[in-house]
Amino acid sequence: MSKAFLIDLTKCMGCRACQVACKRWNNLEAEHTSMTSDSWTNPFRLSARTWTRVDFTELQSPQYKAGMKWVFARRQCMHCLHPACVSACPVGAFRKTDEGPVVYDAQKCIGCRYCMVSCPFGVPGFEWDKGLLAQPLIKKCKMCVDRLGAGMEPACVKHCPPRATIFGERDELLATAKERIAANPDTYINHIYGENEVGGTSMLYLSSVPFEQIGFPKLGSEAVTVNTEAVMEKTLPFAAAWTVILAATYGVVKFRERTNPQGEEKNQ
Ligand code: SF4
Ligand code: SF4
Ligand code: SF4
Repeated sequence: MSKAFLIDLTKCMGCRACQVACKRWNNLEAEHTSMTSDSWTNPFRLSARTWTRVDFTELQSPQYKAGMKWVFARRQCMHCLHPACVSACPVGAFRKTDEGPVVYDAQKCIGCRYCMVSCPFGVPGFEWDKGLLAQPLIKKCKMCVDRLGAGMEPACVKHCPPRATIFGERDELLATAKERIAANPDTYINHIYGENEVGGTSMLYLSSVPFEQIGFPKLGSEAVTVNTEAVMEKTLPFAAAWTVILAATYGVVKFRERTNPQGEEKNQ
């Protein structure tokens, strides 16, 4: 039996308690925040310091009251049933457990970042700011595997006020999702995101609007697998150059954030 989440976006009120609970339980530092015209992101994206994040999307249509509505969607690692990060990692640093979480072994990691390139959801974050003084690691949601081992729910689930995120056996959550759709066909679209995408994921979503309207990637039901040896042969020089470019870009961005904070959102 494999654990999973059911995230019902029609119940989510965008409070970001899940985001805060994740930061607190995992001792993750705060990051700069920003507001763009069509979507609020707090902070900019998933990263080594932000393992779950709530997207705010404004949809406009005459069918909505006032011509628009907000949709809130928390995003994190999908804990895929056939994870691309696992297939891409040449040293087995990523592993899908029987219980559900996709976990990472920092002792095995060689820092190649093929997991980042391979993930169809853009999840794994890299500690770019650690520089040469310490070994930068890959970071992402671990489904609170430490809490599960102690018989507790994941922190983000425990702190979701409307129970928009619930936790349980994947089979049972799928049945619950299908029951909700059948009982409320005017509320939900007939699509459980994660039931089949990339071979299925441990994060299952319900929504009132098509998922592509709120930024979820449109993916087939085939698992994404990566031939690591072929990738390494062709991309090692590129990866080395890319590392230098990204590290330099990160430095420039951080410098601008420190010297030109006008673009920051003030009320987060
Ligand atoms: S979402 Fe990405 S990082 Fe998470 S298990 Fe799937 S492939 Fe791996
Ligand atoms: S399961 Fe744990 S690590 Fe993952 S998003 Fe929730 S609180 Fe964060
Ligand atoms: S805690 Fe629950 S309601 Fe609040 S943003 Fe997260 S999923 Fe939505």
